[in-house]
Amino acid sequence: MDFKTLPDGPLALRGVTLPACLLGQEGGLIRTDIGIADGKIAAPAGTDVDMGSAMLLPCFTDMHTHLDKGHIWPRASNPDGTFDGALKTVRADHALWSAEDVRARMSFALRCAHAHGTARIRTHLDSLEGQYLRSFPVFTEMRAEWAGRIDLQASSLVSCDRVARGGEFADLLRVVAEADATFGLVSYPIPDLKDRLLTFFDMAGSAGVSVDFHTDETMDPSSETLRLIAECVIETGFDGGVVVGHCCSVSTQDEARAMSTLDLIAKAGLNVVSLPMCNLFLQDRHAGRTPRNRGVTLVHEMKARGISVSFASDNTRDPFYAYGDLDMVEVLREATRIAHLDHSDPDWIHSFTTTPAAACGFEAEGLTIGAPADMILFPARDWTELFARPQANRIVLRDGKAIDRTLPDYSELDHLMRAK
Ligand SMILES: [Zn+2]
Repeated sequence: MDFKTLPDGPLALRGVTLPACLLGQEGGLIRTDIGIADGKIAAPAGTDVDMGSAMLLPCFTDMHTHLDKGHIWPRASNPDGTFDGALKTVRADHALWSAEDVRARMSFALRCAHAHGTARIRTHLDSLEGQYLRSFPVFTEMRAEWAGRIDLQASSLVSCDRVARGGEFADLLRVVAEADATFGLVSYPIPDLKDRLLTFFDMAGSAGVSVDFHTDETMDPSSETLRLIAECVIETGFDGGVVVGHCCSVSTQDEARAMSTLDLIAKAGLNVVSLPMCNLFLQDRHAGRTPRNRGVTLVHEMKARGISVSFASDNTRDPFYAYGDLDMVEVLREATRIAHLDHSDPDWIHSFTTTPAAACGFEAEGLTIGAPADMILFPARDWTELFARPQANRIVLRDGKAIDRTLPDYSELDHLMRAK
């Protein structure tokens, strides 16, 4: 139930609270009035509504998700909570990933994200061994079905040992380009990684597609594929857009080495996305031993260098992360706690809205006059009130109208979970 019912027609929302940076101003939270008319943000006019200092944020961009993998936990739980356990479990589950199975779980996940106030999503799609031929057609169907509610992008997902100019990998690039998608890779240390990365960038450049990496998702400091990606981008001059996700191992490296890698990332213009909830779940997990490290990449040092840093959901209810609901308020709250975004710059909210939109090439006009009135209102007057409660009674406005925020019931996926 929404905390307030807004009247129809042109509105003047009086006394809303929002981060100053969203209006291009300096400082922390500010109080202002915002108008809505004909589904767009307008000068305040029409019916006055006293908002009592309710916080307002624009709808979110979730730039790193796995819609194809989501919600398989009941039939494919992680045996020991580790990264290897997740990898093996998901590979075995691929046998069940028919178009119908992927479509049902993807639809469930999108309805959750929409209800929570997300307007733009990039999803990775597991692509090995012909899976791309099943998942990409479902994705393009869903993208058309959801147009106007959630802007969708896809990225293929294949491990770096599969890079080749021919065979399935080349065919995957054809499908990626036809779907107007992004070419994705999981990078980890292998002997000929540099050659494979150069081939990968060359293929992506020839096809005119951007690239998206799962990078160094490990606490092993010797895993330096992030550094190598930055070096390859500088060497090749690839300018098609590069996203690097996770980047965990840089957090465990010698300080001077880590900072020199960050300097290379800045020079190469890479867009970093941190996935703190998934990292906390998988990294530094050993039976009988309390985790010591968070696995979160060096977001503060990156931001200080002008590197584009975003945060996103990553997995939901699958072996890589047992929880989550594609709720960017949860991501914002958890990232704030895990990475200490509080007591820091007041503009971190950009990393959940405009920065990921720019990194992926989504259109996101923000809170400017004439932009679609896509925003979320909360029964909270500042950050501490916002983060203290789950905000289950928030209002999500799309084109100025409050949407139905009913979440799908888990039981609707039960028939798919019996299959094993
Ligand atoms: Zn991921």
